[in-house]
Amino acid sequence: MLLTISTTHRPATDLGFLLYKNPARVQSFDLTFGRAHVFYPRANDDRCTAALLLDVDPVGLVRNRRGPAGEGFALEQYVNDRPYVASSFMSVAIAEVFGSALSGRSKDRPELVGRKLPLSATLNVLPCRGGELLLRRLFEPMGYAVTAKHHPLDEQFPEWGDGPYFTVTLEAEATLHDLLTHLYVLIPVLDGDKHYWIGQDEVEKLLRHGEGWLASHPEREQIVDRYLKRQRRLTREALARLLEEDQQTADDQAEASAHEEEAVEEKISLNEQRLNAVTDALKASGANSVLDLGCSTGNLLRRLLRERQFDKIVGLDVSHRALEIAGEKLQLDRLPEAQRRRLALMQGSLTYRDKRLAGYDAAAVVEVIEHLDPARLAAFERALFEFAKPRTVVLTTPNVEYNVKFPTLPAGKFRHRDHRFEWTRSQFQQWANSVAGRFGYAVRFAAVGPEDEAVGSPTQMAVFTFAR
Ligand code: SAH
Repeated sequence: MLLTISTTHRPATDLGFLLYKNPARVQSFDLTFGRAHVFYPRANDDRCTAALLLDVDPVGLVRNRRGPAGEGFALEQYVNDRPYVASSFMSVAIAEVFGSALSGRSKDRPELVGRKLPLSATLNVLPCRGGELLLRRLFEPMGYAVTAKHHPLDEQFPEWGDGPYFTVTLEAEATLHDLLTHLYVLIPVLDGDKHYWIGQDEVEKLLRHGEGWLASHPEREQIVDRYLKRQRRLTREALARLLEEDQQTADDQAEASAHEEEAVEEKISLNEQRLNAVTDALKASGANSVLDLGCSTGNLLRRLLRERQFDKIVGLDVSHRALEIAGEKLQLDRLPEAQRRRLALMQGSLTYRDKRLAGYDAAAVVEVIEHLDPARLAAFERALFEFAKPRTVVLTTPNVEYNVKFPTLPAGKFRHRDHRFEWTRSQFQQWANSVAGRFGYAVRFAAVGPEDEAVGSPTQMAVFTFAR
């Protein structure tokens, strides 16, 4: 197994300081499953490459079952995999041999630790169970350019087709710490069920090494699931803790910026018009049970409670704080029992498949999608349109073309600093049409708020109706 890491940062030999390994020497380390060697095939000022070569000792592994193994892992590993394939062993070796760099420490070049450097990493043989697509979906959202060469299962028998092995190069401007943590977590993820370590402290390790990137990774469910070898209990625990991390950010934003967007849009009391338009669309759909997804502090919920047609109303938000405020504003504890029973608040994330959301007639998603990372839209689409699958979805988002009409909004700025994007009418319609097509919905569009001939109206609304 061979991992090489290169940089063209100048002087490139700083890589040696960051890795704590002198470019001039070959060093070897004894690990429980074999030996690791570090050497530098190239160490010039303009380019420096460090190599980590892992020499796994299958015989020792089998003999030494107590090692880091679970029962019976080693034989299976070696019946199925050739010893030069990168696997969880490579992650263990990264942690043991490049431990300081992995945790972001450098005695001699502390100023470089947090600096993004031009880095590339090559794994000569990497098993990608899930194929090149998964490989790309794991690394590309974090800014890596991925080059992958697929190898045939057996060169003697090309008709057997391609095996699971790739030669992979990842390139990015990244800190060495980030590159190593990404490799540490994602190599075993690509290796699927085959990596062998599993225990309570794996959850801790995963969260520690995933800090700052895993919570917002579009494939985080799959990463956690595969890393923890599909052990549901551990996976649930890890995802719940990642969700907390996410939610903390949302809570802070709920507190800090509650009024920002309102201030910009105030003049036309757009908010009021939007809530009316959404309520009308929900009523017209004939729905009795409705979800308000991303309900925040409950403005729409209050509006819906007034309509007798709705006998089951659920507000969901990722922010605890927002839900707390919603509970207070709706005076939940003072509502008469019959009213109280119509309404529930729950905390959850829209980018997760969530059983609690299945079986409703309709869902409102009002001014929420623009708060989602574009990379997570796909997860949201599936969670809502494939799994929760309400018959009707009423969804709104700002029309960015209209921003020129807001006098207090500087050109090029979004209406709220937490907005990740704001779409033109054609961008929105393109997205909504594609979602509708993929998940079997029909969609129609409506403008909300005063309509300008050139730039349209401030809010755009799509009403999806399940059609298959
Ligand atoms: N629908 C409300 C609030 C819009 S603000 C209204 O129209 O007034 C966006 C809301 O979406 C915030 O309350 C935020 O906490 C919530 N949100 C952001 N990302 C979310 C996610 N992944 N899952 C659930 N809610 C989310």
